[in-house]
Amino acid sequence: MRRSLFNITAAMSLVLCVAALAMWIRSYSRIDVIDQVTRWRYYSFSSAHGRIFVEVDWSQIGTNYSVHGIAWEPSSDHRLGKEPTRHGWLIGGFDYLSTRGKFGQATQFSYSEYDVILPWWFVALIAAAPFVLWSVRTRRQSRRATLGRCLTCGYDLRATPGRCPECGTRPIAGTIAAA
Ligand SMILES: [Zn+2]
Repeated sequence: MRRSLFNITAAMSLVLCVAALAMWIRSYSRIDVIDQVTRWRYYSFSSAHGRIFVEVDWSQIGTNYSVHGIAWEPSSDHRLGKEPTRHGWLIGGFDYLSTRGKFGQATQFSYSEYDVILPWWFVALIAAAPFVLWSVRTRRQSRRATLGRCLTCGYDLRATPGRCPECGTRPIAGTIAAA
Protein backbone atom coordinates (compact mmCIF):
# COMPACT_ATOMS: atom_id res chain seq x y z
CA MET A 1 0.00 0.00 0.00
CA ARG A 2 2.73 2.45 0.99
CA ARG A 3 4.76 1.27 -1.95
CA SER A 4 1.98 1.84 -4.51
CA LEU A 5 1.27 5.26 -3.00
CA PHE A 6 4.95 6.08 -3.51
CA ASN A 7 4.70 4.93 -7.15
CA ILE A 8 1.62 7.10 -7.76
CA THR A 9 3.32 10.11 -6.15
CA ALA A 10 6.38 9.56 -8.35
CA ALA A 11 4.24 9.33 -11.51
CA MET A 12 2.34 12.51 -10.57
CA SER A 13 5.62 14.24 -9.81
CA LEU A 14 6.94 13.40 -13.27
CA VAL A 15 3.75 14.66 -14.95
CA LEU A 16 3.81 17.91 -12.94
CA CYS A 17 7.48 18.45 -13.66
CA VAL A 18 6.94 18.00 -17.42
CA ALA A 19 3.93 20.36 -17.25
CA ALA A 20 6.00 22.98 -15.40
CA LEU A 21 8.78 22.69 -18.01
CA ALA A 22 6.20 23.07 -20.81
CA MET A 23 4.73 26.15 -19.09
CA TRP A 24 8.23 27.55 -18.65
CA ILE A 25 8.84 27.33 -22.42
CA ARG A 26 5.33 28.58 -23.23
CA SER A 27 5.73 31.60 -20.94
CA TYR A 28 8.27 33.14 -23.35
CA SER A 29 5.77 33.26 -26.21
CA ARG A 30 2.39 33.39 -24.43
CA ILE A 31 1.14 35.10 -21.32
CA ASP A 32 -1.43 33.09 -19.40
CA VAL A 33 -3.49 34.75 -16.73
CA ILE A 34 -5.96 32.95 -14.51
CA ASP A 35 -7.80 35.36 -12.28
CA GLN A 36 -10.62 35.33 -9.85
CA VAL A 37 -12.61 38.44 -9.03
CA THR A 38 -14.78 38.71 -5.98
CA ARG A 39 -16.48 41.81 -4.60
CA TRP A 40 -13.59 42.81 -2.37
CA ARG A 41 -10.65 40.88 -3.70
CA TYR A 42 -8.81 40.16 -6.86
CA TYR A 43 -6.58 37.10 -7.20
CA SER A 44 -4.46 36.36 -10.20
CA PHE A 45 -2.00 33.75 -11.31
CA SER A 46 0.04 34.77 -14.35
CA SER A 47 2.67 32.95 -16.33
CA ALA A 48 5.00 35.26 -18.23
CA HIS A 49 8.66 35.54 -19.22
CA GLY A 50 9.74 32.39 -17.39
CA ARG A 51 8.05 33.33 -14.15
CA ILE A 52 4.83 32.94 -12.20
CA PHE A 53 3.18 36.02 -10.76
CA VAL A 54 0.74 35.44 -7.93
CA GLU A 55 -1.18 38.57 -7.02
CA VAL A 56 -3.71 39.27 -4.29
CA ASP A 57 -5.43 42.68 -4.26
CA TRP A 58 -7.76 43.97 -1.64
CA SER A 59 -9.84 47.10 -2.01
CA GLN A 60 -12.05 48.88 0.49
CA ILE A 61 -14.45 50.22 -2.13
CA GLY A 62 -14.81 46.92 -3.93
CA THR A 63 -13.68 45.82 -7.35
CA ASN A 64 -15.24 47.52 -10.36
CA TYR A 65 -14.81 44.61 -12.76
CA SER A 66 -17.97 43.67 -14.61
CA VAL A 67 -17.26 39.94 -14.52
CA HIS A 68 -17.00 38.18 -11.20
CA GLY A 69 -15.65 34.64 -11.14
CA ILE A 70 -12.72 32.69 -12.49
CA ALA A 71 -11.36 33.45 -15.95
CA TRP A 72 -8.46 32.24 -18.06
CA GLU A 73 -6.97 34.83 -20.38
CA PRO A 74 -4.21 33.56 -22.64
CA SER A 75 -2.50 36.31 -24.59
CA SER A 76 0.30 36.61 -27.11
CA ASP A 77 0.82 40.22 -26.03
CA HIS A 78 4.31 40.35 -24.60
CA ARG A 79 3.49 42.87 -21.93
CA LEU A 80 2.25 41.77 -18.57
CA GLY A 81 -0.03 44.33 -16.91
CA LYS A 82 2.64 45.02 -14.37
CA GLU A 83 6.04 43.58 -13.84
CA PRO A 84 8.66 44.71 -11.35
CA THR A 85 11.40 46.79 -12.95
CA ARG A 86 13.86 46.00 -10.21
CA HIS A 87 15.59 42.65 -9.92
CA GLY A 88 14.38 40.00 -7.53
CA TRP A 89 15.32 39.82 -3.87
CA LEU A 90 16.97 36.52 -4.58
CA ILE A 91 18.92 35.38 -7.60
CA GLY A 92 17.12 33.39 -10.27
CA GLY A 93 13.90 35.34 -10.67
CA PHE A 94 12.27 35.33 -7.24
CA ASP A 95 10.58 38.52 -6.14
CA TYR A 96 8.09 39.95 -3.72
CA LEU A 97 6.16 43.20 -3.87
CA SER A 98 3.58 44.83 -1.70
CA THR A 99 1.77 48.12 -2.13
CA ARG A 100 -0.69 50.00 0.02
CA GLY A 101 -2.43 53.20 -0.94
CA LYS A 102 -5.54 55.34 -0.97
CA PHE A 103 -8.00 56.07 -3.76
CA GLY A 104 -7.26 59.76 -4.33
CA GLN A 105 -6.56 62.52 -1.82
CA ALA A 106 -9.98 63.21 -0.35
CA THR A 107 -10.94 59.63 0.46
CA GLN A 108 -10.53 57.27 3.37
CA PHE A 109 -10.74 54.23 1.15
CA SER A 110 -7.57 52.26 0.85
CA TYR A 111 -6.31 49.33 -1.17
CA SER A 112 -3.45 46.91 -0.87
CA GLU A 113 -1.70 44.56 -3.19
CA TYR A 114 0.66 41.64 -2.65
CA ASP A 115 2.67 39.91 -5.33
CA VAL A 116 4.87 36.86 -5.08
CA ILE A 117 6.98 35.95 -8.09
CA LEU A 118 8.53 32.55 -8.63
CA PRO A 119 10.59 31.26 -11.56
CA TRP A 120 9.15 28.26 -13.43
CA TRP A 121 12.47 26.39 -13.08
CA PHE A 122 11.97 26.40 -9.32
CA VAL A 123 8.45 24.94 -9.63
CA ALA A 124 9.76 22.26 -12.01
CA LEU A 125 12.52 21.38 -9.54
CA ILE A 126 10.12 21.05 -6.59
CA ALA A 127 7.72 18.98 -8.72
CA ALA A 128 10.56 16.65 -9.78
CA ALA A 129 11.76 15.89 -6.22
CA PRO A 130 9.47 12.87 -5.47
CA PHE A 131 10.28 11.33 -8.86
CA VAL A 132 14.03 11.70 -8.32
CA LEU A 133 13.69 10.15 -4.85
CA TRP A 134 11.67 7.26 -6.30
CA SER A 135 14.16 6.52 -9.09
CA VAL A 136 17.12 6.58 -6.66
CA ARG A 137 15.29 4.15 -4.35
CA THR A 138 14.15 1.87 -7.17
CA ARG A 139 17.67 1.63 -8.58
CA ARG A 140 19.13 0.89 -5.15
CA GLN A 141 16.58 -1.85 -4.49
CA SER A 142 17.09 -3.56 -7.81
CA ARG A 143 20.85 -3.50 -7.20
CA ARG A 144 20.34 -5.02 -3.74
CA ALA A 145 18.04 -7.73 -5.14
CA THR A 146 20.65 -8.65 -7.75
CA LEU A 147 23.39 -8.87 -5.10
CA GLY A 148 21.24 -10.94 -2.71
CA ARG A 149 21.02 -8.18 -0.11
CA CYS A 150 18.15 -7.00 2.09
CA LEU A 151 16.01 -4.47 0.20
CA THR A 152 15.48 -2.41 3.34
CA CYS A 153 18.96 -2.17 4.87
CA GLY A 154 21.34 -3.77 2.36
CA TYR A 155 22.51 -6.61 4.68
CA ASP A 156 23.88 -9.70 2.91
CA LEU A 157 21.08 -12.32 2.95
CA ARG A 158 22.84 -15.21 1.19
CA ALA A 159 23.24 -17.12 4.49
CA THR A 160 19.75 -16.27 5.80
CA PRO A 161 17.44 -15.88 2.80
CA GLY A 162 14.22 -16.21 4.86
CA ARG A 163 14.59 -13.20 7.10
CA CYS A 164 17.05 -10.31 7.45
CA PRO A 165 18.96 -10.75 10.75
CA GLU A 166 19.81 -7.04 10.73
CA CYS A 167 16.39 -5.36 10.38
CA GLY A 168 13.92 -8.27 10.44
CA THR A 169 12.54 -7.73 6.93
CA ARG A 170 11.20 -10.89 5.26
CA PRO A 171 12.15 -10.68 1.57
CA ILE A 172 9.36 -11.29 -0.91
CA ALA A 173 9.86 -14.68 -2.61
CA GLY A 174 11.86 -14.36 -5.79
CA THR A 175 13.36 -10.93 -5.10
CA ILE A 176 16.64 -12.42 -3.85
CA ALA A 177 18.70 -13.89 -6.65
CA ALA A 178 20.33 -17.24 -6.06
CA ALA A 179 23.87 -16.78 -4.80
ZN1 LIG B 1 17.56 -5.77 6.52
